[in-house]
Amino acid sequence: MAEIIDGRARAAALRARVAEEVAALRWRHGVVPRLVVLLVGENPASQVYVRTKAKMAAEVGIAGEVERLPADIGQEALLARLAALNADPSVHGILVQLPLPAGIDGRVVLEAIDPAKDVDGFHPVNVGRMWAAARPREAGLLLPCTPLGCMMLLESVLGREGLRGRRALVLGRSNIVGKPMAALLLGADATVTLAHSRTRDLADRCREAEILVAAVGRPEMVRGDWVREGAVVIDVGINRIEDDGGSRLVGDVAFAEAAERAAAITPVPGGVGPMTVACLLYNTLLAARRRLEP
Ligand code: NDP
Repeated sequence: MAEIIDGRARAAALRARVAEEVAALRWRHGVVPRLVVLLVGENPASQVYVRTKAKMAAEVGIAGEVERLPADIGQEALLARLAALNADPSVHGILVQLPLPAGIDGRVVLEAIDPAKDVDGFHPVNVGRMWAAARPREAGLLLPCTPLGCMMLLESVLGREGLRGRRALVLGRSNIVGKPMAALLLGADATVTLAHSRTRDLADRCREAEILVAAVGRPEMVRGDWVREGAVVIDVGINRIEDDGGSRLVGDVAFAEAAERAAAITPVPGGVGPMTVACLLYNTLLAARRRLEP
């Protein structure tokens, strides 16, 4: 039976470290790191996410503000708001909650955030730096929160050097999870396969992987017999499914089946999700520290 990787406990430990360093930064400079989360429109899931981000920020001593903007704000007005936040020296981190309403070009918006304040790590300059770095985890970069959290979970099981030479498969190639995940694994010297909806013989490819990261958004798609005996499985998926008792969250991996073969596996909920938010706070600390102690 696999070790269950407790993302809640690991995220709490990371937040405690961030809180200590935020307090130290405040003591040295008299400055409270400030994170502004822009929420455009009323997407119900986004409302929950931004509330969690602001609440968790407060708990570690970061001033986290949610700024609500109407869905019909228009691209120009949103860009003007971002320019003002970029220019405001009291703001250290800026995050635009995705998805954006129709009519706003997400790419243009992400490119308008000052890369030094881009705590999501989605700006092309930060994406480029990540891919160009030999060891992105050690380069002090603003890295995308979900893959960064996944790396921390993997390192907690395998050790910082324990990914070297391992066969890793990332299932899903989105810009926010799959692709940056592949970059970080590569930077830790894993041998990486990036799989997607056009990958042939997917189950066979998965069975070869010593590290399997699933980020597809399809409930329990990865079955137990896709998992190599002794693999470490990171399940990024968050899928709400209906069953007799109502609705519940499941991952992209059939947890009970996979746990019989894996050496270690993340649960859903309580795995990657809490790490993502903790990494956002970590990035905000990093951005503030770089501004105050260049
Ligand atoms: P996207 O929808 O952007 O990407 C999904 C990827 O999965 C695509 O690359 C797609 O391939 C691939 N895919 C879809 N169906 C199949 C299939 N049948 N076989 C193989 N590959 C397939 O999703 P995200 O990356 O944004 O998110 C993935 C999951 O992670 C979601 O459940 C999301 O809710 C969750 N998530 C969780 C976070 C957390 O904090 N825990 C944070 C972010 C996301 P193709 O490119 O070929 O279409």
